[in-house]
Amino acid sequence: MVIEKKVIGIPRALIYYNYIPFLSAFFDYLGFEVIYSDFTTKKTLTEGASLVVTETCLPIKVYVGHVLNLIEKGVKNIFVPSIQSTAPKIYNCSKIRGLPDLIRNVVKGEYNIIEATLDKSEKNLNLTSFLSEAVRPFGILDFSLIDKAKKHAFIHYNNFRVMIQHNIPYDKALKYAKEGKVIINENEVKHDITVALIAHGYNIYDKRVCMDVFDKLEKLGVKVQSAYSLTDEQLKDGLDYVNVELYWANQLEMSGAAGYYMRSNDIDGVITITAFGCGPDSLMIEDIKRKAKNFNKPILNLTIDEHTGEAGFVTRLEAFCDMLYRKKRAIKGGKFKDEISPVEDYTINLR
Ligand code: SF4
Repeated sequence: MVIEKKVIGIPRALIYYNYIPFLSAFFDYLGFEVIYSDFTTKKTLTEGASLVVTETCLPIKVYVGHVLNLIEKGVKNIFVPSIQSTAPKIYNCSKIRGLPDLIRNVVKGEYNIIEATLDKSEKNLNLTSFLSEAVRPFGILDFSLIDKAKKHAFIHYNNFRVMIQHNIPYDKALKYAKEGKVIINENEVKHDITVALIAHGYNIYDKRVCMDVFDKLEKLGVKVQSAYSLTDEQLKDGLDYVNVELYWANQLEMSGAAGYYMRSNDIDGVITITAFGCGPDSLMIEDIKRKAKNFNKPILNLTIDEHTGEAGFVTRLEAFCDMLYRKKRAIKGGKFKDEISPVEDYTINLR
């Protein structure tokens, strides 16, 4: 049965934060009305968490909450992709791979899951087949039209990436990309210290989940660099610097970014933010912590879940940044002139 109205709901969670400039331009080009779930609130977290087992990672709980929000808004067709493998032998975690099944099993109601699979390993399903599968239920079968929409979407996505790499804030880069603009020369404020924020996009660009960490660090006078400030080549170089083999799809944004920044003299410290219950992250973070010692970079590890309190989060950020300021002043004053400055390692589980 063909769905007549080209209306699609997209949960503002997980892949939204990496790929929405691409997906929104793709669906727009094909004449869809795209409805997004509202920004994450306490209600999103509570309702999402109530439907899955406690051990489930925070981003999945948030995702479930966003699907519920779309249903509440009366959206009938919700895009829930299965991103299995993004390159040969490069895989996502089982939760992202099995997302449509997970949602089907835990969220009951009057809605359709618009499912599409990206699997560049076992099933050889590439981006074009992924996009074709997503629009097939709406009767869009014209391959050349889908291809044109894909090319159009890539222009928006690449513009967005360029702006993010030039340190245009995420929301602004999203807005400019949607308007078809590329702005890379906004006045940059000078900062005394710079930190590399190592985390998945959905853990740092969802302001409720990360308690607006960018804004909090900016208020502390800290410049923030993330994986999204780097090109693909820089991320791959980063993996080589730390001698890590790529296996997880999101390993580039974690280990690749960490490797690149740990080698950089412009970075004063590294902050990692990971979700409690994330298997791949726990492996990557252990490795990043060990490598940080070799590179003599102070590192703060923060683990978050739906119970994380803002006061504790801010206190840890302040203490870490204060230590970075003290260290920098001491180095300037010659205190650590001929010796290796100490590596501080705080691992904090904010549960
Ligand atoms: S990579 Fe980790 S945080 Fe992300 S969905 Fe998978 S288990 Fe959850």
